[in-house]
Order: sequence, then C-alpha cells, then structure tokens
Amino acid sequence: MMTKCSIPIYLGLLSLSACAPSGPAATPAATPATAPAPDTDRITQVSVINALMVGRYDGVMPIPEMLRYGDFGLGTLDHLDGELIVLDGKAFQVRGDGVVSEVSPGRSTPFVVITPFDSDGEFACPEVAGLADLDARLVAALPQKNNFVAIRVDGRFASITVRSVRRQEPPYKPLAEVAEGQSVWTHKDVAGTLVGVRSPAWVVGLNVPGYHWHFLSDDRKLGGHVLDLRVRDGRVRYDVCRDWLVKLDGSTEFNSTELGRDLSRELRKVESSRDGASEKGR
Ligand SMILES: [Zn+2]
Repeated sequence: MMTKCSIPIYLGLLSLSACAPSGPAATPAATPATAPAPDTDRITQVSVINALMVGRYDGVMPIPEMLRYGDFGLGTLDHLDGELIVLDGKAFQVRGDGVVSEVSPGRSTPFVVITPFDSDGEFACPEVAGLADLDARLVAALPQKNNFVAIRVDGRFASITVRSVRRQEPPYKPLAEVAEGQSVWTHKDVAGTLVGVRSPAWVVGLNVPGYHWHFLSDDRKLGGHVLDLRVRDGRVRYDVCRDWLVKLDGSTEFNSTELGRDLSRELRKVESSRDGASEKGR
C-alpha cells in the first residue's frame, strides 16, 4: 500500500520542480526538452489513404498552401487527376495520358505526403533488377523502420515502369475500380529522380505502409507512380522524419465517410498492380 501511494507523489514532485521558474541568478536555460522539433524533421500528409481508397477525390488543400509544408513529396490532384510529384519545391502533374506539366496554383490535392527534404545521409544506389530488390536493399541500409523516411534517388534507369490514372468526375468510384483503367508505360534508359516515402507498417489505413515511389525524368517529360524499375546507377539521399503532421478535411462529406474499414488488400493491389492499358514508353 505504501509503495503504491509513494510513486505518484514522487512523480508529482518531479513535475513540479521541472515547472518551477528559474531565478534571476540562474544560468541561461538550455533549449527545453519539450521544444518542438524543427520543421525540417516533419513530414506532413493531407487526409488519410482510406479516404482516397473510398473515392474522396475532391481537393482538400490548395497547391500553394501545400508547398508551404515542404519541397519534396508525392500524391495526387483533385478529381484524382493523375500523379503528383513535388521535387525541388515545384509541383508536377503526370496526367492519365502521360503528359507532364507543372501544376497551376488553382489546383488542389486530396492526398499528398510532403516534407522539406533535408538530407541525413547518402550512398551509391545499388544496381538492382527490380523494385522489390531496391526496397529490400533500402531496408538493410535504412533501419529506421518505425520512422517515416523520405528517399530521393537521382540516377539512370535501364528501365522504369510507371502508371497514371485519368481524371474522375463525381459521383466518384473507389480507387481500386479506377486503377483498373490505369495507363502503364515502360521507359528504357531514362535519367531522372525517384521521389519516395517509406512509411512505417503501423500507418495502415492512414498512409501507404512501406515504400511509395513516384518518378520524374530529368527533362520533366516522363513520370508517374512507379511499378517497377532497373537501376543502372544513381545516388540515394534520405531524410528520416520523426515528426508527423496529418491535415484533416473538415467537410461534412469527409465526416460522413466510413474510414475504419481494413482496405489493406485493395491498397496493395492499387499500389503495385501492373494491369491496365499498356502504352508505348520512350
Ligand atoms: Zn503513387
């Protein structure tokens, strides 16, 4: 009985002394341990992946506002109008017909993951024969499996298979249905940048667990959501993010949507399926 009572009292004293203001003679205070992490360590996402899965494609955040949260990221545009890539502070759209352009400021995003890319380290990209190989090699190189990691790979790709989806109009169909009509391209010998986010396994329903890669070529003419690749050579840079911000939609529609279902199986198919209309690559 005594022991049980003494613990809370002891903790209470500790917190009291931690809160006590220091007197004028005290040495200058060091940065308090509770200070917020610098923004460079923060990764921000707009909405949650399950909202996209069930067809919530209306824009939640305008593109100019989104760019205040970082210069590196991936997602999609309002109306699910193609793939979104944020690289070096600019937002690019890869439309369903494969055309790449810079996103106009009037557009918005229903889902994006974005961070100020602040490299924590870099290494030569392993020569890999497939996307699964790259993912596995990066697991070994980057053991921070319960943090978010933004990964940038600048390199030459012997081949890269990407997809995009076509703009949708309400009433929206679920993403798994829309993705069945995706366009898939395989480009040979192309230089460009992989924009990747690795999310922890525990983000189920909120984001894409594991790796999510988009691609943009150096000439800004090719890109999309990456389904497969072969790396010739490249440089990996990574940014471990320990601060995670989720911006939620406040609309009535969002709040009347059932988001608690487990859609993991459908998500895996949407993320990695190579089915769809194959079109000629470059
Ligand atoms: Zn994607």
